[in-house]
Amino acid sequence: MTALAIQRRHLIPFRSSLLPQIFTDTLVVGSGVAGLRCAIEASTAGDVIVLAKESLDLSSTNWAQGGIATVLSADDSIAQHESDTLESGAGLCDPEAVSVLVREGPDEVEQMIAWGMRVDREADGSVSLGREGGHRQDRIVHADGDATGAALAAALIAKVRGIGSVRMFNRCFALDVLTSDDAGHRRAAGVLTWHSRFGLQIVWARAIVLACGGAGQVYRETTNPKVATGDAVAMAWRAGATVADLEFMQFHPTSLYVAGAPRHLISEAVRGEGAWLVDAAGSRFMQSVHPMGELAPRDIVSRGIVEHLARTGQSHAFLDCRHLGGGQPGAFARRFPGLDRMLAGFGLDASRELIPVNPAAHYTIGGVLTDLSGRTSLRGLYACGESASNGVHGANRLASNSLLEGLVFGRRVAHAIAADALPDPAPVHTESRIDVPERGDLDVADIRASLRSAMWRNVGVQRSATRLADVLKMIEFWGRYGLHAVFERPSGWEAQNLLTVSHLMARAALERVESRGTHWRSDAPEPDPRWRVRLAWTPGHDRPIRVALPAETHG
Ligand SMILES: Cc1cc2nc3c(=O)[nH]c(=O)nc-3n(C[C@H](O)[C@H](O)[C@H](O)COP(=O)(O)OP(=O)(O)OC[C@H]3O[C@@H](n4cnc5c(N)ncnc54)[C@H](O)[C@@H]3O)c2cc1C
Repeated sequence: MTALAIQRRHLIPFRSSLLPQIFTDTLVVGSGVAGLRCAIEASTAGDVIVLAKESLDLSSTNWAQGGIATVLSADDSIAQHESDTLESGAGLCDPEAVSVLVREGPDEVEQMIAWGMRVDREADGSVSLGREGGHRQDRIVHADGDATGAALAAALIAKVRGIGSVRMFNRCFALDVLTSDDAGHRRAAGVLTWHSRFGLQIVWARAIVLACGGAGQVYRETTNPKVATGDAVAMAWRAGATVADLEFMQFHPTSLYVAGAPRHLISEAVRGEGAWLVDAAGSRFMQSVHPMGELAPRDIVSRGIVEHLARTGQSHAFLDCRHLGGGQPGAFARRFPGLDRMLAGFGLDASRELIPVNPAAHYTIGGVLTDLSGRTSLRGLYACGESASNGVHGANRLASNSLLEGLVFGRRVAHAIAADALPDPAPVHTESRIDVPERGDLDVADIRASLRSAMWRNVGVQRSATRLADVLKMIEFWGRYGLHAVFERPSGWEAQNLLTVSHLMARAALERVESRGTHWRSDAPEPDPRWRVRLAWTPGHDRPIRVALPAETHG
């Protein structure tokens, strides 16, 4: 891959011998579903430290609305969930990874309920199951209507707090993975961290788990919290690990489109309950696009909206929820209390008026390449959750499969760490010398805003070779001074990570000359069977490795 002009090994200069050092068995970077599930399991075999760069509960996990997809009903089957996942993945799922996800999912969800997660229930006490786009059965477990993530995060945090061998450091930013030589093998040995109270420290660990969530913040329009800045991919890349599938970013079709408001997600579950997508004239347009209409897979709905708006010259679409619950007053508020409150904050009432919506970046499908147990290409470094690319989602994630992925693969990483039983890393005297440049007046907020707008315009729902080449030039230019600078606080380090990840994403999107799943190229609008490969990129190599996939069998 054409490298960015400046890509240092570490973000800042440091000398380990001058820094406080902490030792643990497992270091988990991230306190979302994947990190916490991993920490709980890893705590049975040793000490664990969990880092969160803000508060423990500021995560996509805590914001998740719709639910967790899993097979709990007798009308449903593992084969059907598997088949829906493969279909959504548009030919790029690793069938073995999908099989692991759906087979191990039900036990994980039962485990969460046993650990105290509240879930919504039917009058007979059975778990209430909803339906979302791309699912052919009701299998979405939800809590408090539309606050599933908060219920899951609360249960996991409570569980972790009760385990003496897990320490949680919040407001502690991981800057870089440190490596050492272990009998001729390069391995991950520690992480350079910055704590808002204690400053720089090094945490040495036998196993390091990247569970930092996604990279939605590379886009101006995103449903993601501010912590989603792609730090795992950037750290892993600087440490020499392989990354994959970065051309695939899922755009959620329906985020609230109100000037000045953050792009709040209007959950798929709203369309699952029967809401319609309409244009300014009140006409439904998804039925002519796909037989599943508004409940088609997300990539198809996002594309359907963008194409319809371009054809009709309109700026946004609308969700029509007025008929839900037979049009009974209060029906929307009863089923979606959180959304109803959020909309009321903008003076909107879904039971009486149309809700303005547009697509926004939502889920980072690509990430640090792992095997089915979360092992990356760098010994001692593991990844799970949205930071990882394990082949489960293919070219398009099936709705509500990601919380499930965090649970299943978080636990699997802990088992891999126990099985690998790596020795303690010998703490190394490591230092990073960087000539500190003249401190100019770099406006980090302006770099971030310019990058995010450029990514939205050129690497958004619709891409083309010309636009991708243009944005790569822009990122390379910003990288010349943005990556040369040395910052002292997380906002600057995040900006540097965003530059690195954006470059990787745009480069991968340029490489894949076809349209598949979430990756839509106007200059190559059809899927091409020659591209039924995953693209894996390793630092120092100009070209990606094409990872071939076995045939899929749909149940
Ligand atoms: C609005 C919204 C709604 C969603 N709804 C659903 C849904 O209904 N069902 C579903 O399955 N999925 C849903 N998703 C997706 C799902 O929530 C995420 O994919 C999943 O929660 C990711 O979990 P995670 O553990 O990988 O990361 P996260 O939950 O994002 O946690 C990331 C953690 O990493 C930490 N971190 C990041 N970088 C650093 C660093 N450098 N140093 C230290 N700590 C760091 C953060 O502080 C945070 O603790 C939704 C996402 C959003 C944004």
